[in-house]
Amino acid sequence: MKEIVLDSMQSALANSSLDPQDWNAFRALAHRMLDETIDSIANVRERAVWQPAPDSVRAQLKADVPRAETDLGEVYREFSDVIAPYATGNVHPGFMGWVHGGGTAVGMLAEMLAAGLNANLGGRDHMPIEVERQITAWMRELFGFPQGASGIFVTGTSMANLMAVLVARTSALGMLVRQHGIGNDGALLTAYTSKAAHGCIAKAMDIAGLGTDALRQIDVDAEHRIDIAGLRAQIAVDREVGFRPFLVVASAGTVDIGAIDDLADLAALCREEGIWFHVDGAFGALAILSPELAPRLAGIELADSIALDFHKWGQVPYDAGFLMVRDGEKHRQAFAQPAAYLRREARGLAAGSHWPCDFSPDLSRGFRALKTWFTLKTFGTDRLGAMIARTCALAEYLEARIVAEPRLELMAPVNLNIVCFRYRADDEVNREIVADIQESGIAAPSSTTLDGKFAIRAAIVNHRTDVTDIDALVAAVLDFGARRSGDGLIEIDAPPLAAQ
Ligand SMILES: *Cc1c(COP(=O)(O)O)cnc(C)c1O
Repeated sequence: MKEIVLDSMQSALANSSLDPQDWNAFRALAHRMLDETIDSIANVRERAVWQPAPDSVRAQLKADVPRAETDLGEVYREFSDVIAPYATGNVHPGFMGWVHGGGTAVGMLAEMLAAGLNANLGGRDHMPIEVERQITAWMRELFGFPQGASGIFVTGTSMANLMAVLVARTSALGMLVRQHGIGNDGALLTAYTSKAAHGCIAKAMDIAGLGTDALRQIDVDAEHRIDIAGLRAQIAVDREVGFRPFLVVASAGTVDIGAIDDLADLAALCREEGIWFHVDGAFGALAILSPELAPRLAGIELADSIALDFHKWGQVPYDAGFLMVRDGEKHRQAFAQPAAYLRREARGLAAGSHWPCDFSPDLSRGFRALKTWFTLKTFGTDRLGAMIARTCALAEYLEARIVAEPRLELMAPVNLNIVCFRYRADDEVNREIVADIQESGIAAPSSTTLDGKFAIRAAIVNHRTDVTDIDALVAAVLDFGARRSGDGLIEIDAPPLAAQ
């Protein structure tokens, strides 16, 4: 009787794993996907930088829950038709909007290998975590941080900045804040950054429960660097009325124009005042890899914590943000938590404490470190530094083209790789120019507002960008500018696609 039951149970449990039934067919399709993806990167110049997705295409992603199976080849075809052609375009050398990295073919392969391992880097004893520790060690060395410094991969600098605020908060109030909440003492904490700082700092103050009112946004000088005398005065005023200044967030590369605060002076001020010194180096911190640019970051080695993105100037595929904290123990105290199911052992798979989950809100986490490790090793940091310096040289070239062109106006000093300018016409015309160029597929600049005026913003981040791409951008601005500001507005309904 028992045997019959076991038999029927066994047949009901016949293999139904999600692995392919026919590995050879799968392999053939996989190779085609890889070939076509490599082709799409190699031939990226043949395509428009970006194109808007037509309604008919969007409609295809409003389907019902796919309860039945679909052939993998069919799903891939849908990806190729509906998704891939309408991506952001930041792989393209003509992409200069916001601050997006271009990714690399090497990084793509590493992502594939990481997915094959399906490693979970929350904790436990395995080599993928050693890769993350290796990168932390490299970052310690590059930024002159001590042995005890901790490092952790996160989604991006927004998350890294939030975590830095939490570490600084716990350091200021003590670990009991994690049990009791910020309470009356927490309500007195004040943080400082500049008016040119990234919006995610205010968001971090909000999410950390301290509130955006507790963030003092200090004026900047003409070069968009924080006014240190103004900062010092604000700290004094706050102390006078009973607040507790606990954090200064410096920018190493502002998102608007790439300005770098005077990090050495800020470090000295923070030391004097006993305030946590955090550097938002989202894209700018990796200038440390370039011997020409690194001196501009002087003082970063004195920071209590640094946030940076490998997915911007580092060209690592999205996403790969990173937080490094000088005092790793303080970092751990902000996030570590005892839990029976996460018990650490002296041997076996549960060994290897501390685990990454002790250093961030995440438990399960992917293998972001691998694509970063592949990128740093394959290209070497010297070559990456030279690539970073070259994007700055291209920005200088764009600046020179603008200065030489009477119809264009430079809107801000060019610090690193970001150029803000405009066509000599009103804000509305310039706004149209940006949208026209994006829709034309020729290039993808973004925009910002400087001193109340609309600016076309070109951030040269992509390692593929060339002089010809800069020339194409300038030509497009002049072309669309002339059309938009001509006598009586000319309606441009459908700008032509980029020449193939
Ligand atoms: C991009 C950027 C951020 C945000 O980083 P994400 O990786 O997008 O979260 C923060 N600060 C600065 C200066 C940035 O350039």
